[in-house]
Amino acid sequence: MSGFFQESLVAEWTANLIKLAIAQSVNAKTFELTGEVSCRACGYVLGQLAQLCRHGDSYFLNQRDFYNRVEEKPFDTPEEYAKSTLIGEAHCGSKECRVRLGNILSLRDYPQFSPIYPLKCKAVQIKYIDNTNEKEKTIMKKKWSTVPFDIPFLVDDSCPNDADDDNDIFYDACDSLPGDL
Ligand SMILES: [Zn+2]
Repeated sequence: MSGFFQESLVAEWTANLIKLAIAQSVNAKTFELTGEVSCRACGYVLGQLAQLCRHGDSYFLNQRDFYNRVEEKPFDTPEEYAKSTLIGEAHCGSKECRVRLGNILSLRDYPQFSPIYPLKCKAVQIKYIDNTNEKEKTIMKKKWSTVPFDIPFLVDDSCPNDADDDNDIFYDACDSLPGDL
């Protein structure tokens, strides 16, 4: 029985990966994002722009090994929300910096993608290469909603209009965190 259980888990995981790959290839045709995301305070590279995606109002780098790029500061008591659990804070992985970049979040509906590390927009800078003219721009915004390109959704059934209270909390959490000036 455990073999069957394992197989069904693997099948589900594979199906999700295929779904994600399809979503990413569709997105790649619509807008090609080339560049890097780095810590605004110190320039430490966090990941490739092509891996930046969103779920609800959380924007994060969809890399399995992203935890290697940040310092995790888990809360003593995780904060439970309707669709997610706020596990702790994510800080810059550069030893000389350690500035707060965002949160660590577990998504109840998508355990296979969890945890994710939603980044606050004003903690990062984006080096964006425009593929139409090869020009490089450095983008530094306060809010993700003002970044001048579309960021693909993690899963294709995510709806930008699906703004419930839970998402509102994380929108605030990602763009400005308590203690920010
Ligand atoms: Zn840094």
